[in-house]
Amino acid sequence: MNPLAAHLAERIARDGPITIEAYMTACLLDPRHGYYTTREPFGSTGDFITAPEISQMFGELLGLWCWSQWAAAGQPQPAVLAELGPGRGTLLADALRAIEGATQKPAPFDLHLVEASPTLRAKQRETLGGRKVTWHDDAEGLPEGTPCFILANEFFDALPIRQFVATPQGWRERLVTVTNDKLAAAISPKVAPAGLIDGLPEAATGRVAEHAPIRRDVMASLSRRVARDGGCALIIDFDDPKLPLADTFQAVRSHRYADRFEEPGESDLASAVDFTDLARVAGDKGVRVHGPVAQGTFLRSLGIDHRAEQLCRSASPEQIKTIMAALERLVSARGMGNDFKVIGLTLASGPTPEGFGEQTP
Ligand code: SAH
Repeated sequence: MNPLAAHLAERIARDGPITIEAYMTACLLDPRHGYYTTREPFGSTGDFITAPEISQMFGELLGLWCWSQWAAAGQPQPAVLAELGPGRGTLLADALRAIEGATQKPAPFDLHLVEASPTLRAKQRETLGGRKVTWHDDAEGLPEGTPCFILANEFFDALPIRQFVATPQGWRERLVTVTNDKLAAAISPKVAPAGLIDGLPEAATGRVAEHAPIRRDVMASLSRRVARDGGCALIIDFDDPKLPLADTFQAVRSHRYADRFEEPGESDLASAVDFTDLARVAGDKGVRVHGPVAQGTFLRSLGIDHRAEQLCRSASPEQIKTIMAALERLVSARGMGNDFKVIGLTLASGPTPEGFGEQTP
């Protein structure tokens, strides 16, 4: 057992089996052994690669989207540009450069980042150079009373979920316990209380369902903020249309799937995002929800093909190959274009933002 597994086994021996939610939280954010707290996992040499790390075009287009939302809102001052789970800070750096390049003025935003990992906060500070940035532990900490323009790429998939297994008696929670000196999945002896599994349909014995109260809470918090203070949010992540009836909890290490319960803290844990569920939460808080639309469709309607062409004009043949491969990866169904979806939140009275309207041919 690695140190985190030993620590969790001790906790389980003392207090009993833990939920998948508690397990995911420990694996990702344990102060001494957590995946995000102790390392910088992104890039081709890391464990996985995200859209902003594939190409600068991603952050640039998202930055210009935020800027145009800000302009359409009447250029409020002050205004906040916020990112949840900024990783290495690449998206935000590309966004700010694009805004400042297009307007020839400093970006009109105070910058606020929601980041739990001290290691990644340090990396973000470095990537963003001398810019003034304020960090928060969670979305609740973002400033109140100021319109926030919020971006979250591959943030919700890292927020922990709970899992339930259908039994003849009803849904029971999947737990993590110790079997033969190893961490392993188990099923709670008790049927889950109704409040916890609200909305789960009946399913055949053995089926697994996922439910993410923490994601709902974050979504509710962002929605309340937009409804009250204005601004907007753009959330991008991978989904699974079968949710909530699916087991999408995954571990990824060196670009491959790994065992979810082996060597905790050493692989990335994530699960697909149920956009239907999130949209319902947001709708209840009085904001307008746009999408979900496929990432490929969204980026194309924001003009990614044109941006790629522009970059290619001053590029070497080798660079052109890289630019076109990145474009393909971001928009095509073989890459991330279909598996990743985008939803937008705006004021209920707001117009449909760019990217969510009619598809451009
Ligand atoms: N958006 C980045 C990184 C995605 S990885 C990109 O696209 O490259 C997930 C990010 O969310 C990391 O920065 C991680 O440290 C952060 N994170 C994960 N769980 C968090 C939580 N509960 N609270 C705050 N930040 C969290």
